[in-house]
Amino acid sequence: MHELSIMGGLRDAVASVARRHGAVRAHRIAVDVGILSNVIPALLQQAFLAFREVDPLLRSAELVLHEVPARYACDGCGERWESGRYAARCPACGGAEVRLLQGEELLLRHVDLEIPEGAARD
Ligand SMILES: [Zn+2]
Repeated sequence: MHELSIMGGLRDAVASVARRHGAVRAHRIAVDVGILSNVIPALLQQAFLAFREVDPLLRSAELVLHEVPARYACDGCGERWESGRYAARCPACGGAEVRLLQGEELLLRHVDLEIPEGAARD
């Protein structure tokens, strides 16, 4: 289950943002999950719950996953399109000069933090 190690990475990223702002709790954690990222959202949620049980920073947090479609560009004809899967050919010209623009990423987009009075802020 590689979602556990991915969740570990996300947790570290949240902790680093929290430290920077002097926050004691994270609330809403929004993550973009590319449809081609090989991450299964349900397993990532399970991993998140396991981390939340032991981590005070995450105790009242919720993980909100936003699925990002794959987006492609054709270098042959300039066509751009979205798809839910891997594409090897351009649907417009049939060419194979296809580039993936997005869809493989796993991105921490937003964290709501609880910052105590008097804590340092940026
Ligand atoms: Zn094309």
